[in-house]
Amino acid sequence: MAEWILRARRFDTSGLVEVLLRDGHVQAVRSAATPAQEQGATFEKGRHNVLEAEYLAPGFWDIQVNGALGHNFTSRELTPDAVRAVCEACLRHGTTHFCPTVITSDAETISFALRALTRAIDDDALVREMVLGFHLEGPYICPDPGPRGAHPAEHVRPPDWEEFSRWQEAAQGRIRVVTLAPTWPQAIQFIARLSERGVVVALGHHNAGSDQIKSAVRAGARLCTHLGNGCDLFLPRHPNYLWDQLAEDALWASIICDGHHLPGSVIKCIVRCKTPSRCLLISDASPLAGLPAGEYSLWGKRVTLHENGRTETVDERGQRLLAGAACFLDTGVARAWRDTDLALAQAVELASLQPRRLLSQATDDFLQPGARADFVLFDVGEDRLRIRYTILGEQVVRGEI
Ligand SMILES: [Zn+2]
Repeated sequence: MAEWILRARRFDTSGLVEVLLRDGHVQAVRSAATPAQEQGATFEKGRHNVLEAEYLAPGFWDIQVNGALGHNFTSRELTPDAVRAVCEACLRHGTTHFCPTVITSDAETISFALRALTRAIDDDALVREMVLGFHLEGPYICPDPGPRGAHPAEHVRPPDWEEFSRWQEAAQGRIRVVTLAPTWPQAIQFIARLSERGVVVALGHHNAGSDQIKSAVRAGARLCTHLGNGCDLFLPRHPNYLWDQLAEDALWASIICDGHHLPGSVIKCIVRCKTPSRCLLISDASPLAGLPAGEYSLWGKRVTLHENGRTETVDERGQRLLAGAACFLDTGVARAWRDTDLALAQAVELASLQPRRLLSQATDDFLQPGARADFVLFDVGEDRLRIRYTILGEQVVRGEI
């Protein structure tokens, strides 16, 4: 019987707690301030492995992960071993659940990627537990340079329900989030059909007008994907689609907080405008996440990963573009906390409870006895979190600190 005691402050109340885990589930919780003589037999420390850190929080959930360690989810070379390697990398950074993200490509590559991910889920219990469903970002996005970002122009196309249905079948119904541009003539009907089927529709990589954004929301769109990125470099001061999306209360915003995609002032304004209850953090981790600085080939382009973690590519106009992020959500939480006036607990919530809420998962007390273990234990460093342990069921993974 595997038993552990976790000893740390709750991220939300800062109260020091001890949590007894047995066979991957919460067995009992007590305030660590309780006098020793009141300790029950279940907390006899000699019999247990004790894991300690400054803070304890629900594991991070990341709805946008493109790959890591050189493994690309949008690839015909994707193997179940590669998917598992990305899962393990996520765990070392506090992420317990995520949406593998397949981006704009030719139809066959997207099908292959979705089938490979599905096979990995069938074959591997860890992948099965960690994968929340898939995020399809593209190919139904804006073809114009600027909003299109680093997505390949030759594969961008209008929404096609038949094509999407074939992909959903290849994914065995697991496509859970779709990012698209509401500017295509058939987009609004497409959004309505996705929403009816419970797929979260996100607006992203688009240059929509006010009316198109309003129509998309009426059809069921719920999220702005990486608000403030995947945009034109220059916009009229107003109106423009950033203001329209900020002002639209029905839309949540996902935010990349890696220190490169958005200045702290913009993150602060997004969070204030949307309120923390309509924001969540994503890593948008690219296949370069977790790799050393250098020159790489990615998505048919040459991408430079700089020492400071910035990924850069050059588009056909000679314009420098970011090519996804090279870090995980632990960095995002630290930056959101350091770069804004959010409290640490609020920054953690944007990466832990908020994604659960977007996906309609229960967020009762995360230390409920009987609950399956899904935790991150971390210390707070100067400008980052130091992940000490990530615990998912019976898996206890030491963090990359
Ligand atoms: Zn994107």
